[in-house]
Formats: sequence, structure tokens, C-alpha cells
Amino acid sequence: MQITFWGVRGSYPVPGAATVRYGGQTSCVESRSAAGEHVIVDAGTGMRALGNKLMREANAPQHYHVLLSHVHWDHIQGLPFFSPVYVPGTRVSVYALLTAADELNGVIGGITRHEFFPMPLEAVPAQFDFQKVEPGVDFDIGGFHVMPIALNHPFGSVGYRLDCDGVSWAYVSDTAPFTDVLHKQHFLPGPEPLSEDDRVALGAMREALVRRLVGVDTVVYDTHFLPDEYKRFPHYGHSTPDQALEICLEAKVRRLVLYHHAPTHSDDQMDKIAADYLARGEELGIEVLTSFEGMTLPIGPVEGTT
Ligand SMILES: [Zn+2]
Ligand SMILES: [Zn+2]
Repeated sequence: MQITFWGVRGSYPVPGAATVRYGGQTSCVESRSAAGEHVIVDAGTGMRALGNKLMREANAPQHYHVLLSHVHWDHIQGLPFFSPVYVPGTRVSVYALLTAADELNGVIGGITRHEFFPMPLEAVPAQFDFQKVEPGVDFDIGGFHVMPIALNHPFGSVGYRLDCDGVSWAYVSDTAPFTDVLHKQHFLPGPEPLSEDDRVALGAMREALVRRLVGVDTVVYDTHFLPDEYKRFPHYGHSTPDQALEICLEAKVRRLVLYHHAPTHSDDQMDKIAADYLARGEELGIEVLTSFEGMTLPIGPVEGTT
């Protein structure tokens, strides 16, 4: 199995002179098995270039599987520009954490309403279906075993562990650390004070995440903020590389990939972040890579197997 990054940016796309090397497109990762099956994780603007590549390599309409972490703009905006959906016979299964699959239909249908986009979802040639994902309830997509993991983000988010070919990687984005309450169904301009119930719930969420990451080779983690930035914006629902390292260390993960980069971080700043955390990871025995658009990583063996 291998993964390829098509969009590594959080919040909004920032292509331009300052982001040439790391890329300016938003969240989208392709996971591909040795047999050539693939799953797409998140549908940010990086999905447009991925669609063009998949179109070139397909000799017949395909069935695509898209796992969404949540439906914030930076994770869905590429979907209307995914060129295979305009080929009759194409199927697209979209998986997301929502109370009902109908609601997801409404979200995707909503962003393609005539006011926003020239072709409504009903008129698109591809056939869509919407699948509800529940943390802790595993499922299979072809040869991929998918384990959804609850994350701490405003209105909820879900991470995924994917096992295939005897190896394993995980996508943990978007998430705040488990010290602030962010997952409630309303938004306040700052983290809410923690009740005892909140503390218990967040502790359980963190524990379940660590448990799911045990044995995973590569973890792609929301490391949007540097520690001093996080202090100013704790209610945005994103983590720092330090917080990601803490989780990966507990789960004994071999490799951490920094992801969902702040749109304000230029290539030069990203070089410094990459170098600083590569060194920090070496001290802790974790390989820390910084994702960039176009990066492909082979996934290593799960501990205790081959
Ligand atoms: Zn995001
Ligand atoms: Zn988000």
C-alpha cells in the first residue's frame, strides 16, 4: 500500500509564489493497494488534480470511494471538480460522519445548487451514494479494512485507520488536542470550560485514538498550528506537531507525517517546521516527515507481521 498527497493545506487554498514547494491545495490523500485498488480520503481542492490523473489511467468508468473526515469547505470543495463524475457509468460512494446519509446528500447537493455551481448533483452523470460512518464500527472497501475514529473538532470529525496488504496507515485530521471541548453542536468564540463529564468524554476519545493507532506504521496528523499559534486560537479545532508527537509516542507509531498546514505558513516557514520536527522526532525515535503536494510514501509493515 502507498499514499499520495494531493492537497496538504488546511482552511483554504493558497497556491502562489510562497507555497510552490509544499503546495497550496486543500486536504486530499489517495491510498492505493498493491493490486491497484484505491480509496480517497477527503475531497479538498487537491482532489481536482487527482481526478485528472485517475481519468487518464482508467479505461472504463470506475467506482470511487471517498472517505470524508467532516464537511468543512477545505475537505469537500474538490468534489464538484473531480472530473470522473462527469463520465456516465461512474459510481461515487461518499462516507462521512453524519446523523443520516440523507443529510450528507443535502450537504453535497447544497454546494452544487444552481446559485453556486452550473450543474446540480441530480444532473451529474455519475451515480452517488452516501454512507454513514460511525466511530468504532469497522467496514471494508475492497481489500481495505477501514476503522473510523472519533476526533475532537467543532461539530465533530472522524479519522480513519486503513489496513491493506498487511500494512497500515491512519488519517487523523481535523482534530484539536483532547484538553479543550470543541465537539458540541454550537460554536463559542473560545474553548468551553470543562465539566467533569467533558473531561471523561475527551479522555475516552483520546484513549480510543491511541488504541486504534497502536501497530500503525504511518500517521498523517492535523498539525496546523505551532505551539504559540495554538495558544491564540485553541477554539479552531487543530493540533500542533508537539501534540501529534505525544499521541504517536504513546501508540508507538513509526512515522508521523505533518499535514493540514496553516495557509499562512510559507515554504520558508514550512522548511523550518520540517527541520525542527524531524530533529525532535529523532530524539523520540519517530520519523517525522512534512507532507507536500505530490509526495508518495510506501507504507511499511505493521509491527508483529512480515
Ligand atoms: Zn480542515
Ligand atoms: Zn475542519
